[in-house]
Amino acid sequence: MSAHVARKRFGQNFLVDQHVIAAIIDQLAVQRDDRLVEIGPGLGALTDPLLRRLDHLQVVEIDRDIVARLQQRYSSDRLTVHAGDALNFDFAILAEDAASGLRVVGNLPYNISTPLLFHLASFGCCIRDMHFMLQREVVERMVAAPGSGDFGRLSVMLQYRFVIEQLFEVPPEAFNPAPRVYSAMVRLIPRRPEELLAVDEKYLSTLVALAFGQRRKMVRNSLKSLLNDEQLAALGVSPTVRAEELSVDDYVRLANSRP
Ligand code: SAM
Repeated sequence: MSAHVARKRFGQNFLVDQHVIAAIIDQLAVQRDDRLVEIGPGLGALTDPLLRRLDHLQVVEIDRDIVARLQQRYSSDRLTVHAGDALNFDFAILAEDAASGLRVVGNLPYNISTPLLFHLASFGCCIRDMHFMLQREVVERMVAAPGSGDFGRLSVMLQYRFVIEQLFEVPPEAFNPAPRVYSAMVRLIPRRPEELLAVDEKYLSTLVALAFGQRRKMVRNSLKSLLNDEQLAALGVSPTVRAEELSVDDYVRLANSRP
């Protein structure tokens, strides 16, 4: 088979640094019978070492050329290849009858990482953990604390559902072709159902989007279509703070105040 030419539109930056690959595999600590899905296996940098440690692996890949390579290289009783877009893939199907939940792994295409994280968050209930390589700036936004300039809609909505830990940074030279930015590994572990206190998560999401849609404005202005000054104050939120100064708990409290 001829050499694969990396496709920019699919965010193809293939991992080539064996130390980084070993460090990722180490963090995963896979057991042979884990139910694991890799998003974007590409040329197999993670797929190979994962398959040596697992009885079976599932992958979701959008690039038809890569799908053909994977099908040729691995037997279908070890690797199930789902050809398609991870952005509209139903991950719940893979979690069915998995006693300890689905594990999700990927060196993710950077161009779709934010919508993909939101898509995956909707499967929180059937996921055991997720480990991703992402652009470092995205990971910094995911783990940001209130008060920081990185704290935004992504931080609130992901921290509401997951405990998030930044693992290690990865320089551009670890990939081929090398991206222009640093990357970082991150781990997400779903919170227990009893910790998810929002009555209506859709409304929480709407409220958070509204607040951060005008993040420089005071919440009395950005949220005025939903809550007035008296209502904010009664909920323990000063009408003059900005979106990034409120905690995840504050947002849940504001959302739950809807009659
Ligand atoms: N895992 C490989 C590695 O570490 O070298 C490849 C990582 S590369 C950054 C991203 C991979 O995701 C590519 O194989 C690309 O074709 C695939 N991909 C891009 N967009 C995708 C999508 N929407 N759904 C599924 N796979 C996608």
